[in-house]
Amino acid sequence: MSSSSDSRVDHSGALGELVGRQSGPPSVGPDLVNEPMIRHWAEAMGDANPIYVDDDAAHAVGLAGIIAPPTMLQAWIMVGLSGTLAREAARLEAPKLEHETANDAMMRLLDEEGFTSVVATNCEQEYVRPLKPGERIAVSSVIESISDVKATGLGTGRFATTRTDFFAVADPFPSSPEERTAALGAGDPVGTMRFRILKFAPGKKAPAKPPRPRPAITEDNAYFFEGLQSGALLLQRCSECLTLRHPSLPACGQCGSLEWDTVESKGAGELYSFVVVHYPQVPSFDYPLPIGLIALDEGPRIVANLAMDPSDATIGMRLQASITAFDDELSLPVFGPAQA
Ligand code: ZN
Repeated sequence: MSSSSDSRVDHSGALGELVGRQSGPPSVGPDLVNEPMIRHWAEAMGDANPIYVDDDAAHAVGLAGIIAPPTMLQAWIMVGLSGTLAREAARLEAPKLEHETANDAMMRLLDEEGFTSVVATNCEQEYVRPLKPGERIAVSSVIESISDVKATGLGTGRFATTRTDFFAVADPFPSSPEERTAALGAGDPVGTMRFRILKFAPGKKAPAKPPRPRPAITEDNAYFFEGLQSGALLLQRCSECLTLRHPSLPACGQCGSLEWDTVESKGAGELYSFVVVHYPQVPSFDYPLPIGLIALDEGPRIVANLAMDPSDATIGMRLQASITAFDDELSLPVFGPAQA
């Protein structure tokens, strides 16, 4: 099926029929509302409200005992990694359309329209009453709305909102879908969550790469960046004992003198150590990003980007700097393998 932007598939009709349908079968939280999970949550969130952990504090504000933080609502029905993997495996085993949930159908139709990327845009929760330890929580979800095709900053796509209704239900919760629906109907509504996604066709234009972050230029290191702007890799030299140093320091580490000038390095040296950065990725750089610690032939070591495939980098290899202008304001030495 074609999904190009010129002859876009339009599933407006089929998508409209999904609105108002249960997005999938009712599901139940794996654990009762319980004190250990509440305590861990409060710890992780840094929420020091004592009514979540101390019965006396809860009594003092008129509660029968501790309650769960309202924002834990979704935590009670999350099935965890193993549960998610089991669901995914079951879905792959029964890929036939007749087993497709309304949510699966919606995602498939949106993919077929060319809206293959997804981003969560909103999550709103409403709380009906506090949850207490010992309660069993179950949910049903409905596809509440699917928008017309919209132009957004991310690309053209549709917003879809799913409403999940939370109920405190009798325990144990039944296993058949029919019994589950009945058990939810007999349950006590405790909250609602609306989750909105944007399914969109990513724009074709790659975002412009932002410039490299600016170095912090001080009175002590300005010579280094100014030298590079005019094509020279400069090292500091103590005027008293002639010791070379890098990175910049206001005083000589050997004799303590504050007097210094600079000499130009030939940019030749060997790879003393290196790392290859994969994450976190900053948009100004290309990854994987090899960064070397180079022992210059003059003595000092310098940190710089390596212009080579990271798999070719070996400790001790000979390197030669070339001064590279990244933009009008920033030139830096980049080291590549020295020509034999
Ligand atoms: Zn010195």
